[in-house]
Amino acid sequence: MTTEPLALPTSPDAWPAWIRDRAASELALATGLVEGLRTDPPADPVAVLRQWDRAGGHLGNVAAVGSLFGNVHPSEEVRELADNAEQEASRVGTRWSLDRELYDVFAAIEDSAVADDPLAARLLAKVRADFRRSGVDKDEATRDRISAIRERITELDQEFSRVIRDDVRTIQVAPDQLDGMPADWLEAHPADEEGLVTVTTDYPDSVPVRMFAHDQDVRRDITIAFQERGWPTTEALLDELFSLRHELATTVGYADWPSYDADVKMIRTGPAIPEFIDKIAAAAEEPMQRDLGQLLERYRRDFPDATVVPGYDYNYYAELVRAEKYDVDSQRVRTYFDFGKVRQGLLDVTGRLFGLRYEQVDVPVWHEEVTAYDVSTSTAGEPIGRIYLDLHPRDGKYKHAAQFTLVDGVEGEQAPEGVLVCNFARGLMEHDHVVTLFHEFGHLLHHVLAGHGDWFRFAGVATEWDFVEAPSQMLEEWAWHADVLQTFATSADGEPIPADLVTAMRDADDYGKGIFARTQMFYAAMSYWFHADRARAEVPDLTARMVELQEKYAALPYLPGTHMFASFGHLGGYSSGYYTYMWSLVIAKDMFSAFDETDVFATGAATRYRDRILVPGGTGDAADLVADFLGRPFSFDTYAAWLAR
Ligand SMILES: [Zn+2]
Repeated sequence: MTTEPLALPTSPDAWPAWIRDRAASELALATGLVEGLRTDPPADPVAVLRQWDRAGGHLGNVAAVGSLFGNVHPSEEVRELADNAEQEASRVGTRWSLDRELYDVFAAIEDSAVADDPLAARLLAKVRADFRRSGVDKDEATRDRISAIRERITELDQEFSRVIRDDVRTIQVAPDQLDGMPADWLEAHPADEEGLVTVTTDYPDSVPVRMFAHDQDVRRDITIAFQERGWPTTEALLDELFSLRHELATTVGYADWPSYDADVKMIRTGPAIPEFIDKIAAAAEEPMQRDLGQLLERYRRDFPDATVVPGYDYNYYAELVRAEKYDVDSQRVRTYFDFGKVRQGLLDVTGRLFGLRYEQVDVPVWHEEVTAYDVSTSTAGEPIGRIYLDLHPRDGKYKHAAQFTLVDGVEGEQAPEGVLVCNFARGLMEHDHVVTLFHEFGHLLHHVLAGHGDWFRFAGVATEWDFVEAPSQMLEEWAWHADVLQTFATSADGEPIPADLVTAMRDADDYGKGIFARTQMFYAAMSYWFHADRARAEVPDLTARMVELQEKYAALPYLPGTHMFASFGHLGGYSSGYYTYMWSLVIAKDMFSAFDETDVFATGAATRYRDRILVPGGTGDAADLVADFLGRPFSFDTYAAWLAR
């Protein structure tokens, strides 16, 4: 490392001051650089771009520290300070994006002046696009309207999430209606004075009930309650949100919101989204029919006259198909996944694959369960970054699994540092969680390996947003191979997990992938059309549109009277881009086809993948990086073949 890693505070008391100082000093550097650009820009256009990029890097340092510690620090005071820092960074970023004088600095640069520096030219094009998309070149009244719209969109987005989160519904059932539920679940759900058990729509309650409760009425009632969360409150919020996004997109020159959103993604145009959805839906047609056939066959043993399986019975019967056909005992599977061995195994496996070494270092962390490692290349032994693993749940900590940036890497400026934040059990792990760990580690590797370029704008996972999941989805593949798992998944007495058990786990997991793909395309179609429909003279009713799209794409029928879209949270963050997860998966499957499935540790493909996909970060268009790695443009065929398998 040409630069030292960030030194975190050595004592708990030092944290509040450290967060304040880090945020204030980085913010001062950022605003100083931008002020210089406005008042006295360098004569050399590349120097102008560099100054802007460094300002963005320093502002990014504030946002990163804010976002990370606002989500993981054990002290509420520190979390609040961090949240404030993140919000301040976001406010400053918005102010810059609407600063006309700044925009003029970049508008004045001649393209020819940066023509012999391809990355500077790429950056200039991106900076101009950012400004154009922000509406900075509009008149003042329009800019004011844009600011007002953006602010209202943020409010609506937050309100939508809040309503869904707070709208916990319940059903009450007699204890004997809960036959089939696991013992620990029943123990946690005693009957009240009236002799009834309350089941809420929260995941730990409702997911197992839909999967295991023998009583069909219970499964139906909890499914309806679950799908009705947010209804009818969120309909008006969504209506306003979609209309405002449309107004914003058309104001800055796009046909509609999906076109605005897609312009900076791999997919490029709005209309390409429904084309992609239809292509996946067609590829999934036969696999879906195959899955539904197996499902209906099992269903008819209980309901001989049934012609379809209702949505509220899907999870229960899919689970029965899996259990009866593949015979995977998840209790037995767990005994092979001891957390400590899994964590070390993950490091060993990825180290071997990508030529890396992880050396655990004794440095200050924010919680005693967090471990830190210096990453280096095994050939040169040269340190290339630092990672932190914060993998267990605790109060006040982020509830999901994600990779957070601590520092973005730029050669000679600062070394990349990333943090995995997950919530795994401390003892034995579910295999699902092992897969999640590999997935998130894929993001972390991307962050560290792509942290050695010249530009902050292209550092780490700064690739198109519909590609960003591909490296992580691809790394999941290693968590499904016996050769890999057997290196660390051993029972208490040291027996490696049997290969036939891994095969059965994989087959069981594969069951339902046709149904799953079609369900995902139903969601993707809602996410697209709810936004695209705003361009129509008469905007269709959301419920009617949802029912129409469900009938067209989904494998399972609409449950009359329900309004599932009202709690479809991804309409907030993903907006019209819910297709992105499937898009990334198509590319992940295609990239994995370059590896030899019978020799997943072969380093040839892994090295090429590291150097051509991960290391470049955002310096090239993802489609070009993938073509460079595969030796051909990416294709749909590997995914379609996997789906049909
Ligand atoms: Zn991910």
